[in-house]
Amino acid sequence: MATQRMLKFVNTRREMPEKRLADARAQDFDEIYREFAEAKAAEQAGRCSQCGVPYCQSHCPLHNNIPDWLRMTAEGRLEEAYAISQATNTFPEICGRICPQDRLCEGNCVIEKSGHGTVTIGAVEKYITDTAWERGWVVPGTPISERAESVGIIGGGPGGLAAADVLRRQGIQVTVYDRHDRAGGLLTYGIPGFKLEKHIVMRRVKQLEEAGVQFVLNCNVGTDISFDAIRGQHDAVLIATGVYKARELTGPGAGTPGLVPALAYLTASNRQSFGDDVPEFDSGELNAAGKRVVVIGGGDTAMDCVRTAIRQGATSVKCLYRRDRANMPGSQRETQNAEEEGVEFVWLTAPRGFTGTDHVEGVMVQTMRLGPPDVSGRQAPEVIEGGDYVEPADLVITALGFEPEDLPEQWNAADLATTRWGTVKADFRSHATNIPGVYAVGDIVRGASLVVWAIRDGREAAASILDYLVAPAAVAAE
Ligand SMILES: Cc1cc2nc3c(=O)[nH]c(=O)nc-3n(C[C@H](O)[C@H](O)[C@H](O)COP(=O)(O)OP(=O)(O)OC[C@H]3O[C@@H](n4cnc5c(N)ncnc54)[C@H](O)[C@@H]3O)c2cc1C
Ligand code: SF4
Repeated sequence: MATQRMLKFVNTRREMPEKRLADARAQDFDEIYREFAEAKAAEQAGRCSQCGVPYCQSHCPLHNNIPDWLRMTAEGRLEEAYAISQATNTFPEICGRICPQDRLCEGNCVIEKSGHGTVTIGAVEKYITDTAWERGWVVPGTPISERAESVGIIGGGPGGLAAADVLRRQGIQVTVYDRHDRAGGLLTYGIPGFKLEKHIVMRRVKQLEEAGVQFVLNCNVGTDISFDAIRGQHDAVLIATGVYKARELTGPGAGTPGLVPALAYLTASNRQSFGDDVPEFDSGELNAAGKRVVVIGGGDTAMDCVRTAIRQGATSVKCLYRRDRANMPGSQRETQNAEEEGVEFVWLTAPRGFTGTDHVEGVMVQTMRLGPPDVSGRQAPEVIEGGDYVEPADLVITALGFEPEDLPEQWNAADLATTRWGTVKADFRSHATNIPGVYAVGDIVRGASLVVWAIRDGREAAASILDYLVAPAAVAAE
């Protein structure tokens, strides 16, 4: 019976959920993919070949039991599919939407390797959990009994929230501190709604609150409360603060008004979508409407900026990247979506400087070619002399990546060990830092990474914290 519903990859072609037409989706910040209908989800899940050694699972950072939940979906056993899926992933509907599946699970699907097109793992994962929400199967993780031990989590992004969920389910008193007015980290204020609608994140935060997690928002640790005070108030502390220091441009005109950092731009847009009062958006400073926009960078943040600018009504949007398409760090799927929406990519170009005095008027562009590979094996870009030109621009958004803030300095915590890149030093399995009872996860340890890795770190750190606070046998016995 089971095999009859599976192994359909030879005769059933791969299909993603319907994608809204580019013209329509450029008008709003709604997600661009529609949901699978039940029959289509079952059909697509049934393409899985149920490999003995599932490479999709080993390349998923959470080691999700993908073949099992695909099989349950193909057999119409959705509640069981959900139970298996949520056992390893705190936020499956979020990962299903925004994991770069082509580099993780789907990129290693065996039927993809045999030329049949990967199983649409992410879309099915999203479908299972969206259905679970609709049918009331996703319930708050309220513990059966309370414990006295308390944990302070600094940072309410996916790493911090995943840890909060695991700890709270075990009855630990959990407080999440965040400097923003809403929890969710980059899920809330970085990633735009067309990839991840905000109500998806907010309903998770609400459920954590319902389970008894305390949120202390608008609280910048190091300014509004000291790190020492947090350590004094809790039995263990988790640092999950992400990386926020934007890499800056150099060169003539680099400080000209009209040059804005990507995260300030995306945050303003996300706040606007929440209906907040955003003076920098209203003044036009962080609003692309009616402007010629140039975005500098080739990663996922740059992709989010160009597509946001299209939706805000920019007259033109160009993306400058110093390597070519094959060598860009951003997802190919997102690049294609951006092109469909009207973004022009100008490969092998980099800014030399900027024109304009009171406000930016153009980008001095230098053209590049790819030279021999560097020590990392990547071809290094080289300037083509005499190839410069000026690209007119009214708004330039810089998306060159992020670095960690100097936590030991900002938190007056010289004893907190960091790496030479400024990330917090933590054991890769236990996530313990050098300070007893203090753990660290997510981007502040890994450098700018992915949501799914932050979730994994958060879950693992929570298990280590439980070991530290509570005898493991006592937890298991409950
Ligand atoms: C624009 C953009 C798009 C992205 N798109 C994707 C994507 O499509 N898929 C994907 O997998 N990943 C994506 N990422 C990466 C992903 O968002 C991060 O890897 C992930 O959010 C890291 O989680 P985290 O919990 O470590 O940190 P964060 O999500 O950054 O959360 C950290 C939290 O800590 C808070 N904080 C920081 N310092 C303090 C302090 N001193 N006091 C109190 N609170 C503090 C912050 O306010 C924030 O809420 C994207 C990143 C960006 C910038
Ligand atoms: S969590 Fe991400 S990598 Fe893992 S199965 Fe889901 S979409 Fe794939």
